[in-house]
Amino acid sequence: MAVYGIDLGTTYSCVARIDDVGRPAVLRNLEGADTTPSVVYFESADSVVVGQSAKDATVLDPDHVVQLVKRDMGEPVPREFHGRAYSPEEISARILRKLVDDAKAATGEEARDVVISVPAYFGLAERDATRKAGEIAGLRVLDVVAEPIAAALDYGALEDAAEHGDRAILVYDLGGGTFDTTVLTLRGRELTVLCTDGAKELGGSDFDDRVVAHLADRFRERFPDADDPLSDPQSETQLRKDAEEAKKALSFRERYTVRVMHQGRVEAVELTRGLVEELTRDLLDRTVDITRRTVELAAERGVSAFDEVLLVGGATKMPAVAATLRAQFGFEPRLHNPDLAVARGAALYALDRAERDRAEEGAGAEETGLTHRPYEISTVASRGYGIKVTDIDTGREYVTHLVHANDVLPASVTDDFHTIRDDQRKVRIEVMEQAGAVESDEPAHNTAVAEGTLKIPPGKPKRWPFQCVFTLDTSGLLNVVATERETGERIEISVRIGGLSQEAVDEARVAMSRQRIG
Ligand code: ADP
Ligand code: MG
Repeated sequence: MAVYGIDLGTTYSCVARIDDVGRPAVLRNLEGADTTPSVVYFESADSVVVGQSAKDATVLDPDHVVQLVKRDMGEPVPREFHGRAYSPEEISARILRKLVDDAKAATGEEARDVVISVPAYFGLAERDATRKAGEIAGLRVLDVVAEPIAAALDYGALEDAAEHGDRAILVYDLGGGTFDTTVLTLRGRELTVLCTDGAKELGGSDFDDRVVAHLADRFRERFPDADDPLSDPQSETQLRKDAEEAKKALSFRERYTVRVMHQGRVEAVELTRGLVEELTRDLLDRTVDITRRTVELAAERGVSAFDEVLLVGGATKMPAVAATLRAQFGFEPRLHNPDLAVARGAALYALDRAERDRAEEGAGAEETGLTHRPYEISTVASRGYGIKVTDIDTGREYVTHLVHANDVLPASVTDDFHTIRDDQRKVRIEVMEQAGAVESDEPAHNTAVAEGTLKIPPGKPKRWPFQCVFTLDTSGLLNVVATERETGERIEISVRIGGLSQEAVDEARVAMSRQRIG
């Protein structure tokens, strides 16, 4: 059975599968487009609309439309529509459903086995939420894959690793609502995310905003006595739509005219590529600053040159992106299907995964007629994990991390800790997860994810030792075992770094099957 790759994007999503000749192919949606807006419209209790029609519904019924739900993945932030609360996983599940239903219409075959891509910076909770969104949608999620890795697969940037030896790849991803830069290294067979950085609130829609503001200005200048077109939701939504169209068109041509309509008046505004570049220069400059930070961090970690610089995300179609990277860094970036590359790469990865699963089941690669790729993609911890401890001399509380971000999973780390008082009869083990982008020992920069209490025998002096073993597997199961060695007393704390329980997922799947989704 065919396997599918899904790019569940912040603003646009895309689905691809491997075609009969082994190449990834994007499947168009029912509207005939390669990508589908990640927008969900809760029309009524039993009918949900996804994609362009949902985006269009924003004008008429904005309170029932959800955009940018990806930003909430991994957080318990339900939204209520028609008397029912929907988690981010459930909302994302409806996007996935639309994608695979349309894929089925395109191929005539049920899409069930999928790999879904996630940003490289997604922690285990967000990855788990993405998996569960897939399960709610009734899919078998073979794996999740980091978006830059998927993109690099589609670009073929990892293919000739065997001949070329170690490689370093910089992925610059400017999407609709986010910007990410990631450095990947391929050493021998091992592919790793060396570092990743970005801005969660910087993307193509900020470019649209600038164009909208400019168009509204021109309209106001022309009709000083008319109302502001931005004060009317309907005119504003139309303007946003036209501005995005104009921006896209200007990636391929020099001029484009938008007719700004409001209260029966019309002003034709001519835009040029140069003008839009001027209006958005500072946005692009911000991506340059972040890229420079990433390049510097990669250098600190031993990578000072890149074999490939890959452009990903629809907004990199703007010629100014490649030109700016060339001018600022001397890069020769590659640009090819930047808004489809992640889904296509996820499909390649899905094929590899399915084949490996089959090999493990004993079928062997020969039988599938496919060849193994010459590398192993290692899953790394996206955050650090540790416990909260108290400095025995100063009384200061801080966090000691045993597992660090980018440690290859599965990871198992053992460390000794000590009591701080004479005759201390118990120690509280507080398991902490790094909260920010960088590891910090400040408790405030970490989130408590679980706790337990270990008994210590009576009469022991302070600094009495006990042992902690942290084990984190690739699926996000964190297991902490604390042991008092003299008595053998031990406690075990298991944390699933993720959100919804299996029951909640099952329930959500049943609820969704009763809804019409189109
Ligand atoms: P996501 O961020 O959800 O992963 P994409 O990578 O598809 O989504 O990027 C979407 C962004 O790309 C949107 O802001 C869209 O307007 C922009 N975009 C798509 N095509 C073009 C184009 N030809 N020129 C400029 N921007 C484009
Ligand atoms: Mg994307």
